This record gives sequence, C-alpha cells and structure tokens, in this order.
Amino acid sequence: MDFKKYITVVSDFPKEGIKFKDITTLMEDGEAYKKAIDEMAAFAKEKDIDVVVGPEARGFVVGCPISYSLGIGFVPVRKEGKLPREVIGVDYGLEYGKDRLNMHKDSIKPGQKVLIADDLLATGGTIEATIQMVEELGGVVAGIVFLIELSYLDGREKLKDYEVFSLMKY
Ligand code: 5GP
Repeated sequence: MDFKKYITVVSDFPKEGIKFKDITTLMEDGEAYKKAIDEMAAFAKEKDIDVVVGPEARGFVVGCPISYSLGIGFVPVRKEGKLPREVIGVDYGLEYGKDRLNMHKDSIKPGQKVLIADDLLATGGTIEATIQMVEELGGVVAGIVFLIELSYLDGREKLKDYEVFSLMKY
C-alpha cells in the first residue's frame, strides 16, 4: 500500500520553515489506518514483545492499536504533571522546543521486552528520552516503530543500537 498518499504535508506548521507531516488524514481512512497498524504489529510479533510504550499524544494513536492487536499492555509516556502516581522523568529536546517526559515508576517490570511506538521520528529526542526511562525501569527495548521517519534529520543515528522499523521515509 502507498501509505504516503494518506499523509498531508502542511507547510510552515507549527513554525515557518517546517513541513509538518499530518497523520490525521491517514487515521481518517479506516483501511489505510488498519493496514499501517497491521504492518507495525507484524514487526512487533517477531520480537516477542511483552508491552508497548508510546509518548503522548500521537504515540497513543500508533501504540494502543498495536497493543490491542497483540493482546498485550500499553504504557503511556506523558508530559510532566499529567501522570497521577509516582513517576520518573527525563528532559528532552524536540525538533521545535524543549520539555520533560514522565512514566509511572511501576509501569515496566524488570526484564520486560518493550516495543516503543510513535508517529514520527524527527531528531530522535523524544524516543531517546523514552528509551532512557524504559531502561532505567529495567525494561529491554526490543524494537522501535514509527509511521514516518524524517531521514534528513538523522534521528536514526541516536537509535543505532536498536532495531527500528518505519513505514514511510521522507
Ligand atoms: P523528535 O523528538 O524525533 O525530534 O520529534 C518527534 C516528535 O515530534 C514525535 O512525537 C512527533 O509526534 C512530533 N513531530 C515532529 N515533527 C512532526 C511532524 O512533522 N508531524 C507529526 N505528526 N509529528 C511531528
């Protein structure tokens, strides 16, 4: 399937000079959305994953249906101040901005095989911070999946020690 035809490229959003890849037009198409998730779930199935981890908010759009499809749990990564129980946290740099991410301290059991899922790999800052927290909790990152990889930003260099699958590359 040509997934790229379901992605809308929006110029100068959220800032001038950025060509934002809008995935909502893929999500709106039931067949394309399902096929995209099925391909990512097939990658995860080979890795014998115990739990899926995804950063808010678009990581939920990708990660939750994968976990449902595999019949395993989903663990959210959220911005500081959103999770109600004891958390660990990491500062991270974005393609545009800076922030802090949290995970519940008891969300990953030591030795669990983790699939990290997000919509898009840009600089890799979000996923690098997510890996750091998963590993701090004793999880093993067995794979990382994206709908889209922006190859020109070299985010993959930060993830070179991990198995990365992306459905589309720009
Ligand atoms: P990174 O941390 O790799 O620099 O940025 C990736 C994060 O920013 C992802 O969580 C993603 O949701 C968001 N992001 C950055 N650029 C885009 C874009 O062009 N389209 C979408 N959908 N998300 C983006």
